[in-house]
Amino acid sequence: MKNTKYVFVTGGVTSSLGKGIIAASLAKLLQERGYSVTIQKLDPYINIDPGTLNPYEHGECYVTDDGAETDLDLGHYERFLNIPTSQSNNVTTGRIYQSVIEKERKGDFLGKTVQVIPHITDEIKHRIQILGNTGDFDIVITEIGGTVGDIESLPYVESVRQLLWELGEDNAMVIHLTLVPYLAAAGELKTKPTQHSVKMLMQSGVSPNILVCRTEHEISDTIKQKLALFCNVRKENVIQSIDAETIYDVPNLMLEEGLDIAVLKKLNLAHKKQPKLKSWNQFLTNFKNPKYTIEIGLVGKYVELHDAYKSISEAFIHAGAKNKVSVNIHWIHSEELTVKNVPRKLKKLNGILVAPGFGERGIEGKIEAVKYARENKIPFLGICLGMQMAVIEFARNVLGLKDANSTEMDVNTSNPVIDIMEEQKNITNYGGTMRLGAWDCKLAENSKVAKIYKTKNISERHRHRFEFNNSYLNDFENSGMIATGKNPKTNLVEVVEIPSHPWFIGVQYHPEYKSTVLNPHPLFVNFVKACLEHSLNY
Ligand code: GLN
Repeated sequence: MKNTKYVFVTGGVTSSLGKGIIAASLAKLLQERGYSVTIQKLDPYINIDPGTLNPYEHGECYVTDDGAETDLDLGHYERFLNIPTSQSNNVTTGRIYQSVIEKERKGDFLGKTVQVIPHITDEIKHRIQILGNTGDFDIVITEIGGTVGDIESLPYVESVRQLLWELGEDNAMVIHLTLVPYLAAAGELKTKPTQHSVKMLMQSGVSPNILVCRTEHEISDTIKQKLALFCNVRKENVIQSIDAETIYDVPNLMLEEGLDIAVLKKLNLAHKKQPKLKSWNQFLTNFKNPKYTIEIGLVGKYVELHDAYKSISEAFIHAGAKNKVSVNIHWIHSEELTVKNVPRKLKKLNGILVAPGFGERGIEGKIEAVKYARENKIPFLGICLGMQMAVIEFARNVLGLKDANSTEMDVNTSNPVIDIMEEQKNITNYGGTMRLGAWDCKLAENSKVAKIYKTKNISERHRHRFEFNNSYLNDFENSGMIATGKNPKTNLVEVVEIPSHPWFIGVQYHPEYKSTVLNPHPLFVNFVKACLEHSLNY
């Protein structure tokens, strides 16, 4: 059993400072030094999980192998660390209260008054230590969502205070991420907001051991000295985090600043080896020196908020670097696509991706985009709803089933080519009830996907309720759209392709969730390659 050490990451001054990226970068450096590390995110909102949240609220909902619907930061953790996360890596206030209330109903509290302290804080501490207690990790990094001073965050900060005390000096520590703004009129960086947020943290009984200061300009020694003096932190533990060209530069920047060394010192851990980041830096070199640029249209209905498609855009970064190609994403709103404007709007594209989604809004535009890609032999990748739209388009325009639809959009369609699964029909709750998480899939011999994956047995993550309706499968296959990936147990269709098209693939699962810096996803890599060929030939 390892003696697991705990690093808590809090945020001050404003939200959106990038706690997730700092946590992931630190974890990456510690991993490179030979430590086993995982990262956990505690979210102070009352939803049980982000699965029922509109993507406009918090961006994409990320799905783990074990079927947890989680915060998009878990995607960063996996992309940086190249190891899978699970339900235990994301906990919300809703989930904490749900389990405390369930225990109360069962009588587990023996007639006691149930209170925030100790019952809620005990549950939070338990959830933090679940990962450590697996014995798999030397270090668990726990990111506390929100900003210090928020009412919602208080029980979390209190739990951190208790754990620091219980675990002891060498076993737990706090990194506080803060903003050092630049006042152009004064020509100066300002430390006061950081002083205030550290004071706020101290009022809750927590003193940070390290300050990571987000800044647009270099922080001088004098400013570091000042921050150290006012915030009770050693000067070498005031770490600058300057704006970077890409999030993938942050591990190197933190290495230069010595964040990993400061953490090891505080936790009394050996330095072990120096991080080399060899494959990581190879990726960065490729990413920053592309030989070509390709134009890919991402057709979706949440495109105003790019975070709604975070894993897809990151998967394109990984796949682009692998091909030494810069992928220029055109964010195309599906509601703005019409039969008339599609040729003009999609003309310059080398590839079209129709994105996942829920509900009726914008689906006709998605269907038009599929049609354009199919007829004009433009590489096409449809993901989840995107695959379902490809099936509907083919049914309507090739099979001649004019009213073909998904029963999600039209329950009365006479041709439900996409239909709800039998097991889903009686479900009335929306949260956590879809087909979720990793499912096995068998790929057909000689199919394009089997060649791309270089194997016939794959496992990919799902998040949907509706499925290809197998009673239409023969008609589709006789007309040229083939089911080349199926669930080996249920025969559900997971992949469709059109072999007569240069590159036309629809997948019911989400390949984007499994793309990492060190393991770019083969489907994305091959799609980008096909788009590059398209750009060179047209
Ligand atoms: N709305 C579709 C379904 O539930 C697709 C979901 C998705 O794209 N993730 O089946």
